[in-house]
Amino acid sequence: MAKIRIHSILSESKVNGPGSRIVIWTQGCSKACKGCFNPETWTDEGGLNMSVYELYQMVKTLLSHNTGITITGGDPMEQCESLYYLLRIINDNLLDQLPDGIIIFTGYTMEEIENHEDKLLAHIVPLVDLLIDGRYEESLKNNNVLAGSSNQRFHFNCINNRGESRIPRHLVEIDQSVEIHDGPQNLIQITGFPNVDRKFFKDKGLDIV
Ligand code: SF4
Repeated sequence: MAKIRIHSILSESKVNGPGSRIVIWTQGCSKACKGCFNPETWTDEGGLNMSVYELYQMVKTLLSHNTGITITGGDPMEQCESLYYLLRIINDNLLDQLPDGIIIFTGYTMEEIENHEDKLLAHIVPLVDLLIDGRYEESLKNNNVLAGSSNQRFHFNCINNRGESRIPRHLVEIDQSVEIHDGPQNLIQITGFPNVDRKFFKDKGLDIV
């Protein structure tokens, strides 16, 4: 079974899409966007290296407290083979238990995905309810939708063949917010869309994911 490297996983997030969500941060991103909120996820070393099936089992265990999944990073699509298998088994087995759907953030634009030499990237798109594309552009930072900057676009899919996306447009037009969780090893995890520089949190000794 393929391996996937993740930075961290969180349950019951309310700021990474509608409902209560499992959030998976993958480890590894080569895009190096200026102002990226998660530079710890850039290296493709560190984090947790596990089989796709192990991650699937973790997701399954967390489902009783959650209604959707958000996969972000890092850039999940830089591990496209593993991501494809993960989404494939989630689609095949858990779709009805995810009424708030599957969201993926990627630094690739849709055009880059469609024209990429690895055709597997394009096969990932129909496996998610919502794909948010493009690199973070610090000069285009926004605060009223579920995306860090206004160049990033929303691509909605109907993946459960019921006529419309399970994530309607109005649910991504939100006031961005942050939430704070107890993390592993007594660390505090902050997620969402902070309007202050990450240095603010670092200076206070807070771990940020
Ligand atoms: S694509 Fe995302 S994770 Fe990667 S550098 Fe840009 S903002 Fe950061």
